[in-house]
Amino acid sequence: MKLSRIGEFGLIRRFSPRFLRDLPPGVTGIGDDCAILPWSGRRRLLVTTDMLVEGAHFLRAKISARDLGRKSLAVNLSDIAAMGGRPSAAFLSLGIPVDIGVAWLDAFFAGLRELARRERVSLLGGDTTRSPGPLVINVAVLGEAMAGRIKLRSGAKPGDAIFVTGSLGDSGAGLRILLAGHPRNRDESALVRSHNRPRPQLAEGAWLAGRAAVTAMMDISDGIDSDLRRIMERSRCGAAVDLDALPISGPLRRTALRRGWEARELAAAGGEDYSLLAAVRSDRAAAVARGFAREFGRPLFRIGTITAARNGLRYFSGGSLTELERRGFDHFKRG
Ligand code: ADP
Ligand code: MG
Repeated sequence: MKLSRIGEFGLIRRFSPRFLRDLPPGVTGIGDDCAILPWSGRRRLLVTTDMLVEGAHFLRAKISARDLGRKSLAVNLSDIAAMGGRPSAAFLSLGIPVDIGVAWLDAFFAGLRELARRERVSLLGGDTTRSPGPLVINVAVLGEAMAGRIKLRSGAKPGDAIFVTGSLGDSGAGLRILLAGHPRNRDESALVRSHNRPRPQLAEGAWLAGRAAVTAMMDISDGIDSDLRRIMERSRCGAAVDLDALPISGPLRRTALRRGWEARELAAAGGEDYSLLAAVRSDRAAAVARGFAREFGRPLFRIGTITAARNGLRYFSGGSLTELERRGFDHFKRG
């Protein structure tokens, strides 16, 4: 059987149940943004790891070494943010092709260190090898959170409001611009920046984790079309998304008009936004949104509602049922 038949998530579903059965008590394993291990008292250890492979996740000609160093750490910090945790330590493993020079690597480490210092994360180890093929970067991050203030993907209930913490589709549009050539104006440069310099939403994640009304949370790495399905699977629910409510930035709106792109498709399926996706009890939804806006000076965007599992993921526009042309990202499936 070809891997493309089951896809990235089909593969994970295929092997993970056996490993989940073997877990010691108090440990949360495969299936969320981070694993959770008991630590001391009410403190919990969070662990996450993410790999970036040249040609699959980035093109060396389209991102500076400094941005790539920063991004390698940022995507992991985003998973800590998704649980409501605080990151503390990182491990970095590199498979380096022979054509990469020391100056490039110096810049890579400078970028990584910049973000590590800002977020008080210590690089504690890793591994370095030669790669006969592409540049391979793997980062693992440890973090901590208090029991009872960790948000899983599994707590969403029908009726909950679905929120996102930032505009969607900018990063996907930035990638499209890079694949087609170079940014042609300030809007396009801003979109490329969103793609190459994602900001992990650690403060937002910690704040949302402190709200009892938040029932589920994850970070948006593959686009809400894919990521909402992860919440649906873990929470055994469905979701209704209002395409007209997806937050679309000025640069994306204007660029989509100029280039003839469907901005809402990019917002739903573009991926690598690294904002947070949260389900919130409906009776507290307005209060949580107001509190978020007060705390961060920008809105929490309501994009839909959690529904019963039998409904699956449904999209609405102008009040009627509609479909997306693109699907969210899966490494082994296309279209
Ligand atoms: P994220 O995008 O938050 O990093 P993914 O959607 O990539 O999470 O992965 C889903 C879950 O499957 C996560 O809990 C992740 O740790 C786990 N996972 C992915 N690949 C593997 C693997 N090769 N071995 C074990 N667990 C994996
Ligand atoms: Mg994640």
